[in-house]
Amino acid sequence: MADLVHFVGGRSLPPASGQYLDKADPRTGEVMGRVARGTAADVDAAVGAASAALAEWRDRRPIERGRVLLELARAMRENVAELAAIESREAGKPAWQGPIELEGAAQYFEFYGGLVNTGHGEIINIGSGYHSYTRREPFGVVGVILPWNAPLNQAGRAIAPALAAGNTVVAKPSEETSGSLVRLAELAVACGMPPGVLNVILGSGSEAGSALVEHPQVRKVAFTGSVRAGREIGRIAAERIIPLTLELGGKSPNIVFEDADLAAAVPGALRAFALNAGQICLAGTRLLVQESIADTFVEALTKAVAALKVGPEPDAFVGAITTKAQHERVLQYFEVARAEGARAVTGGEAYADPSLQTGWFVPPTIYVDANPDMRIAREEVFGPVLTVLPFKDEADAIRIANDTEYGLAAGVWTRDLSRAHRVAAALEAGQIYINEYQAGGVETPLGGYKQSGYGREKGIEALHHYTQLKCVTIKL
Ligand code: NAD
Repeated sequence: MADLVHFVGGRSLPPASGQYLDKADPRTGEVMGRVARGTAADVDAAVGAASAALAEWRDRRPIERGRVLLELARAMRENVAELAAIESREAGKPAWQGPIELEGAAQYFEFYGGLVNTGHGEIINIGSGYHSYTRREPFGVVGVILPWNAPLNQAGRAIAPALAAGNTVVAKPSEETSGSLVRLAELAVACGMPPGVLNVILGSGSEAGSALVEHPQVRKVAFTGSVRAGREIGRIAAERIIPLTLELGGKSPNIVFEDADLAAAVPGALRAFALNAGQICLAGTRLLVQESIADTFVEALTKAVAALKVGPEPDAFVGAITTKAQHERVLQYFEVARAEGARAVTGGEAYADPSLQTGWFVPPTIYVDANPDMRIAREEVFGPVLTVLPFKDEADAIRIANDTEYGLAAGVWTRDLSRAHRVAAALEAGQIYINEYQAGGVETPLGGYKQSGYGREKGIEALHHYTQLKCVTIKL
């Protein structure tokens, strides 16, 4: 992997400091390349480029902005193999996964490229003698800070609506997964996006990330990542009085009632916690299963886990954990669970197989004999680790499900339509999935309740979060 550098004002920009961060290969733990270590000087150059590009992009007829985004969606599909290979290499994902995530990323540009013209205002009747109306206007330069688990998918989710609304963007990907976003920004320019409209700054959160949030010309920040970093960014944003979208973590309940279609619920529950090696903010990592079917369900799920392929092969279902620190964190949770008295029916310790010891692989793990007060039932692990919590009845399920500081998503498996709606209304989470975990698309709004964040991405809703409302009133 060649040294990765920033992309600013339509061209590559080496770091002002001349310094780079090592990037390791999740499948081997070996250093595979270097990533520019961005500092405040690089951020300043990028925000300068984004500010210079703003007027032309903002004032362009929306349909013309949309056409560029549609063209970028096309280019992403045309280059999917290259983009997927970058993400697989950097993140340790199995090869089949990248194209699926990237199709979602392309759809964000397609969706918002088509929606550009819906951002109009309203006429407000305040009686004769006046004409009053609202305009939805972009903020200006938007800072976008991203995690490593689904790099371009999450980038598209924030960048496409920001650009569609007429903002310009400075994006900072995770230092662990920077390559595909740099390539996307190059493709955008090739698709006719004016230089400076989309800029990419590389580096760590504490240097490049915080400099971006602190920059006086950044007018809004969209952050996806941990609660810890969200809180730090929130403090700076509060000081600067700029709006934030925070997409943070979760410990989402996946509730299986005794009347559920178990043939669908077992594979559904498996994917909910093991997909992407559990590195999904929305992952269903608390399995709430009705007592009457708990043993049968856990047995079936354990069998399904045993059939999963884990490892570096392209057709594995579970690939590597993307970062060394995260790998260590998951292994630490195995110790936490053991000390708390939870019992692993599968997994729960580091692999003994030498072929799985070289990279950052962890076994999909299911804990039983747990209770809702244990750390393993309350804290986000961000690995393929499931905690089973049996419940008695509907009220009990809702109580346990809502007994968390998080509120990102929840799954419900039942054949009873009335119950599905009742429980969906009672759950404190931004996304509720009935009879298919992570159902939805680019069209469905996404965001958190409680400590999982605020603001909404995806759907028409996101466009509003990237605009500010102006009201004009004329005395006739
Ligand atoms: P992280 O918070 O450590 O890092 C996310 C990004 O923020 C990175 O680009 C990082 O460099 C940057 N960053 C870190 N500290 C910063 C600071 N003080 N100021 C500015 N930028 C900073 O998170 P991660 O480990 O990359 O990702 C895992 C977390 O992200 C999990 O908690 C997961 O649930 C969450 N996540 C949430 C969503 C969602 O949509 N809600 C999606 C994916 C991941």
